[in-house]
Amino acid sequence: GMPAAPPPVLAPRRPTRQIKVGKVLVGGDAPISVQSMTTTKTTDINGTLQQIAELTATGCDIVRVAVPSQDDADVLHIIAKKSQIPVIADIHFQPKYVYAAIDAGCAAVRVNPGNIRQFDDQVKGIAQAATDAGVSIRIGVNAGSLDKRIMDKYGAPTPEALVESALWEASLFEEHGFRDFKISVKHHDPVVMVRAYELLSDACDYPLHLGVTEAGPSFQGTIKSAVAFGALLSKGIGDTIRVSLSAPPAKEVKVGIKILESLNLRPRQLEIVSCPSCGRAQVDVYTLAENVTKGLEGLKVPLRVAVMGCVVNGPGEAREADLGVASGNGKGQIFVKGKVIKTVPEDQIVETLIAEANRIAEEAPEG
Ligand code: SF4
Repeated sequence: GMPAAPPPVLAPRRPTRQIKVGKVLVGGDAPISVQSMTTTKTTDINGTLQQIAELTATGCDIVRVAVPSQDDADVLHIIAKKSQIPVIADIHFQPKYVYAAIDAGCAAVRVNPGNIRQFDDQVKGIAQAATDAGVSIRIGVNAGSLDKRIMDKYGAPTPEALVESALWEASLFEEHGFRDFKISVKHHDPVVMVRAYELLSDACDYPLHLGVTEAGPSFQGTIKSAVAFGALLSKGIGDTIRVSLSAPPAKEVKVGIKILESLNLRPRQLEIVSCPSCGRAQVDVYTLAENVTKGLEGLKVPLRVAVMGCVVNGPGEAREADLGVASGNGKGQIFVKGKVIKTVPEDQIVETLIAEANRIAEEAPEG
């Protein structure tokens, strides 16, 4: 039959230049990538590689590691070589670590303009080394470390200040013909951050790395990031994203992927359609949804699973989904692709759904 039409998106992607972060393309028509950053000491090679492996398994596309010292710079070649996803070296202050990261085989280097003034006379060398090695750069402007000259001019890290800082830094690289960079203008306030990216997107066609910096602990950070990224992505702004949470980095990746999936910017994988429950519920919907979610974690096929508390909307939603349950009277009607395949007692609902999901996954064509 006809191939299915791609799911609708809220706005076409704004055109941006495309750069390479190792094997991952960023910008242009490349899929929006998800990034995270390791929390281990980079010198702890095994710990760092283990965390990168976990991030990779979670679906992370690009990983960043901090390089605060020479010892960190010295182990980059091992990490860059053994990581399955491109590694970005995060460098403040020290141009010599930029060269070290390029030599070590890192896919990209992140530099911070607030700290880069002293790089001015070194930009030419960095641009040349990056060009020779096919390494890209992220210009990472951060509200907390804005260039003093710009802080004096604006008095606060306003959207205009963040953008001016970013464009000034970009111009330093442009002077040497270097354009293989992406830009971020992070702020902890989603409103300021969104405005800054909107202005930046109007002012240049460099790929944009979205981030709400210091977004906070899991709950708050997830909401701030989802709101801010949602506002921008729904206008087609953003080429790669990093959710910052005071939580393990794999969680950042899960949130990032879910944000993209919610906007149809990445094919949906597992999606649980569960009702909020109400006075009509005849099962414990929360526990049921939680257990089904846990049982299906890691399933790598697109699957919409409906978990419904009663027979009012239950059968309807369960029928629309690939798989579902509508509960009532201590039993669950199990639906597969719209048909009731069996009715099981309440205590067998979870195991039945998991078994059916795995069966569907096995029969699914490789994607
Ligand atoms: Fe309430 Fe039933 Fe709707 Fe769940 S499906 S919210 S239990 S009416």
